Amino acid sequence: MQTFKLDKKSAWAFLGKLKDDFELIAPVKKDLVRFETIEDTKDIYLEKNTYFSVKEYFFKKHETIFQFDGNKITVPVAQTPKRVFFGIRKCDLNGIKHQDMVFTEQISDPYYTAARENSFLLGYHCNEAPSVYCFCGSLNLVDYYDLMFYDRKDFFLIEIGSEKGSFLVNKYKQFFKETAPEIKADEKIIYGADRLEKKDISKLYDHPDWKKGVDLCLSCSACTAVCPTCYCFELHDTVKTENPAQGERVREWSSCQVQEFSKVAGNHVFREKREERFKHRIYHQLEYFKEKNGINLCVGCGRCIEGCPTRIDFVQIINEMK
Ligand code: SF4
Ligand code: SF4
Repeated sequence: MQTFKLDKKSAWAFLGKLKDDFELIAPVKKDLVRFETIEDTKDIYLEKNTYFSVKEYFFKKHETIFQFDGNKITVPVAQTPKRVFFGIRKCDLNGIKHQDMVFTEQISDPYYTAARENSFLLGYHCNEAPSVYCFCGSLNLVDYYDLMFYDRKDFFLIEIGSEKGSFLVNKYKQFFKETAPEIKADEKIIYGADRLEKKDISKLYDHPDWKKGVDLCLSCSACTAVCPTCYCFELHDTVKTENPAQGERVREWSSCQVQEFSKVAGNHVFREKREERFKHRIYHQLEYFKEKNGINLCVGCGRCIEGCPTRIDFVQIINEMK
């Protein structure tokens, strides 16, 4: 992979140009660390990972699928500006890869695809785990980015990962003069992020230790809302009260943690018990998706643990199972 060396001043000047020419979205520190459109590159904050991932820019929380007026259907044209995302960690880049598999490979979702096509993904590689809950190092994550920034204190090493990345380097070649040797695999290790000890949970479904988590779970669904890989949604129609013939069909995020999620006609609920819902999320992340697609859905970001109101650490629960 072609690699460049940029001193920090040049790297920040490069980001400034990106901000002028595109919508630049990067982490900022406010009430929480979160992705936002950047007005001033001085606001970019890279000390911690963001509380929410970038998922909502592609798989939106609320999307109008079509509007109806009697028998007339209007499909909104997906309009997404050209966006550059900077500061995405390896876990979230892999989260995007997994969502790409769901929304562009397994089906072709026009809303998701348009947002992805118009995006450039610029990663920021962690040298060590930014949170005690991270376990990305246990999950065989891959390189998936347009450009990746490796922070080496006084300078960045920048690796090209795709044609979109090459395009940016060529467009702004005034910043990319100094090449560097290829970064070796052992220079990409993220220290302190390898804490999931059991990689195969297929035989642990009936283990009594799940109770440690189930008893604390509130079925609040915060874990699925912060997760970069959860992709469940519901569709429903809303109509105008003044004219019920007019309205729209919308898609909104949903969660396997709420009882209604698996409710079908006749009021039958497939996962009525909290224990079944609690285990379903973890098994989908670490087992079922892998059975179907060959890789874990989970990317080990630890957000579902940090964002859980009762701090249920499912990694610790699995590690402690005898
Ligand atoms: S965030 Fe925690 S309490 Fe809420 S549903 Fe998820 S595991 Fe349960
Ligand atoms: S399940 Fe938890 S650790 Fe895994 S990707 Fe989702 S939020 Fe991150």
